[in-house]
Amino acid sequence: MKIGIIGAGAAGLTAALDFSSKGHRVVIYEAAPFIGGQASTVTVGGAPLERGYHHLFTNDQAILDLMEDIGVGDAMKWYPSRVGTYTSGKVYKTTTALDLLRLGAIPLLERIKLGLFALRVGRIKDWRSLESDTADFWLREQLGGMAYEKVWAPLLRGKFGRFYDQIGMPWFWSKIQTRFASRKGIRGREMLGYPDGSFDTIFNRLTAVIQARGGEIHLSTPVENINVKDRTATGVIARHESGELVSEDFDIVLSTVPSFSFPDIVELPDCYKKRLLDVHYLAAIVVILELDRPLTSFYWMNIADHTIPFLGLIEHTNMLPKEWYQGNNVLYLTNYLDRSDPVYKMSQNEILDLYLPHLNKFNPEFDRSWIKAIHYNAVSAAQPIIPTNYSKAIPNHRTPIRKLYLANTTQIYPEDRGTNYSIRMGREIAEMIMDDEKENWRHWA
Ligand SMILES: Cc1cc2nc3c(=O)[nH]c(=O)nc-3n(C[C@H](O)[C@H](O)[C@H](O)COP(=O)(O)OP(=O)(O)OC[C@H]3O[C@@H](n4cnc5c(N)ncnc54)[C@H](O)[C@@H]3O)c2cc1C
Repeated sequence: MKIGIIGAGAAGLTAALDFSSKGHRVVIYEAAPFIGGQASTVTVGGAPLERGYHHLFTNDQAILDLMEDIGVGDAMKWYPSRVGTYTSGKVYKTTTALDLLRLGAIPLLERIKLGLFALRVGRIKDWRSLESDTADFWLREQLGGMAYEKVWAPLLRGKFGRFYDQIGMPWFWSKIQTRFASRKGIRGREMLGYPDGSFDTIFNRLTAVIQARGGEIHLSTPVENINVKDRTATGVIARHESGELVSEDFDIVLSTVPSFSFPDIVELPDCYKKRLLDVHYLAAIVVILELDRPLTSFYWMNIADHTIPFLGLIEHTNMLPKEWYQGNNVLYLTNYLDRSDPVYKMSQNEILDLYLPHLNKFNPEFDRSWIKAIHYNAVSAAQPIIPTNYSKAIPNHRTPIRKLYLANTTQIYPEDRGTNYSIRMGREIAEMIMDDEKENWRHWA
């Protein structure tokens, strides 16, 4: 078969790998001038670094298996992380379960309740029993008190904004499962994974293997239209870097674009289109600062305070060696927000004026003169909002157009989106498509 793939992120590249391993010909179109999608990198301190902070958990099995398959398994290294939580005007160490028991911002009995609550959710095996409740309902009604007010309510509002009370409980359940898997015992520190050479190590090798098998990857080549004849996809029209529109025929088209932009490139029946557009996405804006010294001693800082205009501080070089970045300290300031939010449209300087005055809350000595370089990135489809009972609302990978498939982050469930799950989805959809084609041939034979 000749398969056209739209998007060279984790899902598109992985599907292309599996198609090409079975002898199919793949052509990938990528709108951006780089591969890797949301996990792509920029050069920071002379080395590649993800535009948005990235790490892996010990139960991210699909990506670990893929790395082995393509011969870069040895590049994955594990590091202990240090976690802090800013609440009530102070930073608390929340690295281990024992630290949580010492979290002075809430009374002792409520800390114990918080730990027992996490254990209880961690023991739930079947997420389906949680599907009809929101995470906010569970946290408010079943945990409640100061643990909800001081920690969870601000974190939920910070992450999901106006959607904070609509997120299905399976999201919280999957977060707890992942965190427990990455942490050993009450004193255990969380171990997080990061590949030597950044996530580029994985995407560059995928590219090399796909190309060695005859696959093509066209960067800066957005697909503008999917050709359809008799309700069957027949190919794509893409705009090449030169500006020229080129049409190419395919036996199968696999799209990995976000749900909100899929209807822009293909005419879809109303019921499927509604399913796609019913899922909201939050965008992310991420500022990377290269500093001449560390801001804090933590890798990950949760910010449970709505007066601070960003959700998290991720100090990359508090977990990874700063020597990789010419000795600079790398700090991400991250935020999720609606694409219609005025902050999303702000210039880099406006964002800095908004954010930087708050850094003194984490280190009173912080001064703008510590900043050696600034990188600013915006991701439009960063976080799908997954509501209650979503298993009944997920858009099908098989679209109503024959030979046209969709695989994007709104179809990952019950887990939260992540590179591991896009890789798992890329593999599953490649298998699904190859099985469907075998089935079609059987009908014809
Ligand atoms: C700030 C941030 C932090 C994150 N942190 C982590 C983390 O720590 N660990 C983790 O595992 N995951 C993390 N993730 C999530 C992870 O990066 C994504 O879930 C994953 O990379 C999505 O891969 P994908 O292939 O499904 O989609 P994408 O990466 O979005 O790929 C889709 C591709 O399609 C392309 N495209 C769109 N329209 C067209 C078109 N018309 N024509 C051609 N190409 C098109 C896009 O340019 C893009 O490259 C993070 C994400 C963000 C935003």
